[in-house]
Amino acid sequence: QERHIKLGPLDFPADGIALCGCAKNPKIYKESCEEGIGAAMRVSIPMKNEHIEAEGIVADIDLTNCNACGLCSKRCPYGAILVNEEKLPTVVKALCKGCGLCAADCPKECITIVHYSDEQLMAQVDAALEEEPGKKILGFVCHWCALGGVDMAGVSRLQYPTNARLIRVMCSARVPIKLIERAFEKGAAGVLVAGCEFPTCHYITGNYACETRIKRAKKIIGKKGYDPEKLWNVWCSAADGPKFANTMRDMVKDLKL
Ligand code: SF4
Ligand code: SF4
Repeated sequence: QERHIKLGPLDFPADGIALCGCAKNPKIYKESCEEGIGAAMRVSIPMKNEHIEAEGIVADIDLTNCNACGLCSKRCPYGAILVNEEKLPTVVKALCKGCGLCAADCPKECITIVHYSDEQLMAQVDAALEEEPGKKILGFVCHWCALGGVDMAGVSRLQYPTNARLIRVMCSARVPIKLIERAFEKGAAGVLVAGCEFPTCHYITGNYACETRIKRAKKIIGKKGYDPEKLWNVWCSAADGPKFANTMRDMVKDLKL
């Protein structure tokens, strides 16, 4: 699969590898040749530079509590987590894109995302809900698409209720269930997790992972006595300001705020 259907149609998810022609899907000769030229240009960039630039936001694993379940390695969309013979994981920092999926799914909470740790996100949740939490909707919005939608709603001067308190995450898959639980424990009226539209997640499959986790989260918060219907999930492109504004209006109406 290409890195991004629109933003990186010739790039493979790992830097320095390009895809073109029938390696992607059946194509006519002319189109394959054009893509081949494009792919050659793309791979020539790291070849000329003789290095690739890694992300500053990367995963870091503390093996102290690791149970060698291998989940992080299986889930990483970039194959950036390798396991050794004892099934213990290591992050290949040059491949890690910092989506945070592994950290949110690790059952032993061994994984920290540098610059986006659970503690930092938890502190943001607490701060956002410090005053009048019962009137607030806590939103986790992905950096690449949903946050663009929020900005678009702003620059388009769309009117929507002011109940939302938004926390930026790199990917909707970065949001662990414990953050959602914390928001409800603090008394949030509702929680929204917003990510990229399918199938254009910036991190390939982050939105699919998020969707599955939200279904699980609804069951978990339901068992803890919170209303699962107060947990919303929306997919919003960076150009879709109206969708974000409408979601806010719908949530406020539904939650009777
Ligand atoms: S998901 Fe967590 S516990 Fe499982 S192997 Fe990875 S780091 Fe260890
Ligand atoms: S943060 Fe994302 S890219 Fe990096 S190791 Fe974890 S799942 Fe893979």
